[in-house]
Amino acid sequence: MLYYMPTKLYYGKDIIFQHKEEIVLGEKAIIVTGKNSAKLTGALDDVISVLEELKIPYIHYDGIGENPTYEMVLKGKEIALSNECDFVIAIGGGSPMDAGKAIAVLTANPELTPDDLFDMNNYDVALPIVAVPTTAGTGSEVTPFAVLTKPNGRKSGFKSELIFPDISYLDPKYMVKISKALTLTTAVDALSHAVEGTLSKKSTPLSDMLAKESIRLIYEYLPKVLNDLENIEYREKLAIASTLAGMVIAQTGTILPHSLGYRITIHKGIRHGQATAMFLPLIAEEVEKYSPEKTKIIKDIFGTLDKFFVFLKDMGVYEFNIDFTNEELELFVNEVMLSSHVKNTPGEYDKGKIKNMYTKITEI
Ligand code: ZN
Repeated sequence: MLYYMPTKLYYGKDIIFQHKEEIVLGEKAIIVTGKNSAKLTGALDDVISVLEELKIPYIHYDGIGENPTYEMVLKGKEIALSNECDFVIAIGGGSPMDAGKAIAVLTANPELTPDDLFDMNNYDVALPIVAVPTTAGTGSEVTPFAVLTKPNGRKSGFKSELIFPDISYLDPKYMVKISKALTLTTAVDALSHAVEGTLSKKSTPLSDMLAKESIRLIYEYLPKVLNDLENIEYREKLAIASTLAGMVIAQTGTILPHSLGYRITIHKGIRHGQATAMFLPLIAEEVEKYSPEKTKIIKDIFGTLDKFFVFLKDMGVYEFNIDFTNEELELFVNEVMLSSHVKNTPGEYDKGKIKNMYTKITEI
């Protein structure tokens, strides 16, 4: 068994002010954010006030949208290079953090194109990375992964130990203003990470301990937070759950629900967490047939796999209407079968079975 998680993680209210000197990982920072969330949550203001106090120059690039593209990260690379930035501060949900990781590699290796990121043998250096999450979902603040959308519309992840953030500041106060819809989709993304981690062929006793606590916290606190969005205590619990789930997938990676969900996000516009979580019960049932011991944690917490499905349904995971054309189904099935997630999912999967999963989702 291997456990590797080299990120220095600070957690707590106003934590960035208590450990501000450590944010200085270079001489000039590129701050990578989306258009709004870093600003609305107060996280950007905190980072800027710390940098100004420490007299560290920075440039702010706010061009990252949901599901970051090659164009977005290339623009970031260009800005970082022309301003001679030597470290990255990524603030936001998964998209800015993942884009910040890509920019960190591309800037340190200017000859590389985004396609080259997907083979970690192409590079052995990246700019240092600071992560400041503003949602509780992706766990990107503690993972060696980043997901980009390729020019052909395919969402793909890359992995490198170089993109583990060097420091992450996890402050639940940034999360109290998040809308109900975003709270749900990010929380069930975290739940997907923890559940997939425990189902994965790569789960370890240590990753299972983290997954179990993460799932337990989400089971207990997601219903509460959805009814009391500004409750800081509940937000703290979800923040911890999400980071624990990130520590799980840093060891195990994700499995089939993520691959199945990527197509629905890109082609149907359903947000990542929800698009992924909707497949969890179907995959858990499949895994149960081949490796029943791997569903034990889910059953210990929810009672049965059926009750796990009911929980997701009650939370609102299935509140949408989607249908797929035959062409879409064909495309999705082919892409999923080519993804690396298949081999880490216990069970046997062929095109018929994958197609059936998409069909079942439309019938719920
Ligand atoms: Zn995810």
